[in-house]
Amino acid sequence: MGPKRAELLEKNLGIRTYYDLLYHFPTHYVDRTTVRRIADFEGEDMPSVQVRGRFVSFSVQGEGAKTRLVGLFSDGSGVMEVVWFQRIKFLREHYHTSTEYVVFGKPSVFNGRWSMVHPEVDVPGAPGVQEGFRGVYPLTEQLRNRGFSSKTFSAAAAMILGSAGCVSETLPPHVVGRHGLMGLHEALVNIHAPVSTGALERARLRLKFEELFYLQLDIQRYARRRSSCSEGFLFARIGRFFNTFYSDFLPFPLTGAQKRVVREIRADMGSGRQMNRLLQGDVGSGKTLVALLTMLIALDNGAQACLMAPTEILATQHYETISSLVAPMGVNVRLLTGSTRRKARAEIHSQLEDGSLHILIGTHAVIEDDVRFHNLGFVVIDEQHRFGVAQRARLWTKSSVPPHVLVMTATPIPRTLAMTVYGDLDVSVIDELPPGRKPVKTLLRYDEERFATYQGIGRQLRKGRQVYIVYPLIKENEKLDLRSLEEGYESVCDAFRDYRVAYLHGKMRPEEKDYQMQLFASHEADILVSTTVIEVGVNVPNATTMVIENSERFGLSQLHQLRGRVGRGGEQSYCILMTKRKIAGDTRRRLELMTATTDGFEIAEADMQMRGPGDIEGTMQSGVPFDLRIANLATDGQIVQLARDTACEVLDADPLLSAPENALLVRQLGLLSSRLKDWSRIS
Ligand code: ADP
Ligand code: MG
Repeated sequence: MGPKRAELLEKNLGIRTYYDLLYHFPTHYVDRTTVRRIADFEGEDMPSVQVRGRFVSFSVQGEGAKTRLVGLFSDGSGVMEVVWFQRIKFLREHYHTSTEYVVFGKPSVFNGRWSMVHPEVDVPGAPGVQEGFRGVYPLTEQLRNRGFSSKTFSAAAAMILGSAGCVSETLPPHVVGRHGLMGLHEALVNIHAPVSTGALERARLRLKFEELFYLQLDIQRYARRRSSCSEGFLFARIGRFFNTFYSDFLPFPLTGAQKRVVREIRADMGSGRQMNRLLQGDVGSGKTLVALLTMLIALDNGAQACLMAPTEILATQHYETISSLVAPMGVNVRLLTGSTRRKARAEIHSQLEDGSLHILIGTHAVIEDDVRFHNLGFVVIDEQHRFGVAQRARLWTKSSVPPHVLVMTATPIPRTLAMTVYGDLDVSVIDELPPGRKPVKTLLRYDEERFATYQGIGRQLRKGRQVYIVYPLIKENEKLDLRSLEEGYESVCDAFRDYRVAYLHGKMRPEEKDYQMQLFASHEADILVSTTVIEVGVNVPNATTMVIENSERFGLSQLHQLRGRVGRGGEQSYCILMTKRKIAGDTRRRLELMTATTDGFEIAEADMQMRGPGDIEGTMQSGVPFDLRIANLATDGQIVQLARDTACEVLDADPLLSAPENALLVRQLGLLSSRLKDWSRIS
């Protein structure tokens, strides 16, 4: 390829090397095993097809930007137009009426006649012309305009793969042999130009497996290394704080799941190794209490604990819950956020350094540089997905021995994703809700049924219950959204004149937010109109109704989170999804799924199927370590499992990968590490 075209390739697709080219895979394939007759063309949305015949004539038509070259093409059964808008002069001289061609493209009807725009034109049997299945490659508009086509890529791949010794096997024979995988060279040949659908399937399996296998091998190797050498605080004692709280101040008996999880965490803390544990529990499953109990164990061993929350509202709420529970026992709990006043801040800093502060609760403010602990032994991160990896890594600088880390999340993560994103974390799951909870009833209501919705709200208010009404606030639409939020607020105030309405959005000053939230939490306000700032973690058990306006604009996980704000007491709760009547099919499916299930894992799975893993809330930041080229975490669950099992077997047999037959693995991991983001310190 000449320097100009090479530069275009790099600029448009980041392709620089043979490797990049070979791993630029087709997104799908077209069948070029059959030739179609023009007389048989029919329908509005025909697939790309190939036709064999001759050009009858050429003419240049139109003017200016609309100038085009039109070739009349006949295959004996009928005639179609072949149209080009670019490179007219070149093509006019390039194609001849005497030659037989195979023309490949998507037929459509224009001015009452079949036509193909910018098809691929080949001389049958000429070198480089592929029959069989042809790859369709991702291309940019610019590349297309400069004459690049799928053919460019398949020809380049064929050329590279045709030269001897160009590709050496990247998996050792014992792995290839065990699963009967296709060799790398054959797989690459077939991914670009499959000889059959069966071969394509095997090529895909081989390439997906390899990608996931090295990913799992890296994760597992790291996890094993850490668990064998990462020294941590030894918190062997259960003492005064834990025992007093457990016997005298526990607000309700723990659920079985809470007890089990506390035991798991306790065992970790007593092992002498640093704990990195993910605590998954659906909204309302009682994670806060688990966090508190385990923080008390740290206190019993002379250490300080810290709890980080993603928003000020949530930090404040944790602070209030926790300090009211343990203050009577003489535990010193303080709150540190961006809006903590300077004087209080100085006091907190000095108490942290002299060790008299036991539990620090706060937002990102707690990981700022000037916050120094006397003896930080335990960190809880609530709703982890709002904290990036980098922020979490800063925790390690707060203590000479790395603190135990408990990451809590209510966003259920599908198993395949968890195995990848959190592959090196231990996982505890609270799979049981506190007793007496009734599942939230979810209803889909159209905007014109608002009256009925308001009647329902009225019934709840008369029973003394509280109501959330949530509006979307999305960056691109910020101005419009804020207006509809304000209008919504006014119409709610109008409709419910006897009740007090609080009002909250992320653009407000922190004191104002706190004040409004407090109004609702203390039941001075009956209705809270807000944006999604309340999404994460807020706990007002008396609230029984969640109305979500423009629900079609929210993702599944977000809807699930919002719904989790109600159904926290013993009363029957409702979630009303308001939407306009005309919505796209997949949007409707999403909303209907919400009405059909309250199971967070089911919703997370469906969300991943619908949107693909890259978009799942939370994984963007915590991050799959590199972009997968061919494997898909949403649909390749079985291959993920196979790759993980194989990685574990290899490491079980040869933990340091020092055996000669594993030398290749070490080399490949080294090469890959340039593509891996730094994620080794996920917590
Ligand atoms: P989440 O897991 O969503 O953070 P919370 O910790 O906020 O859930 O708990 C949700 C609600 O359940 C709170 O009102 C809490 O007091 C209550 N709760 C927690 N554990 C229990 C329990 N064992 N029995 C009854 N209620 C509980
Ligand atoms: Mg919570």
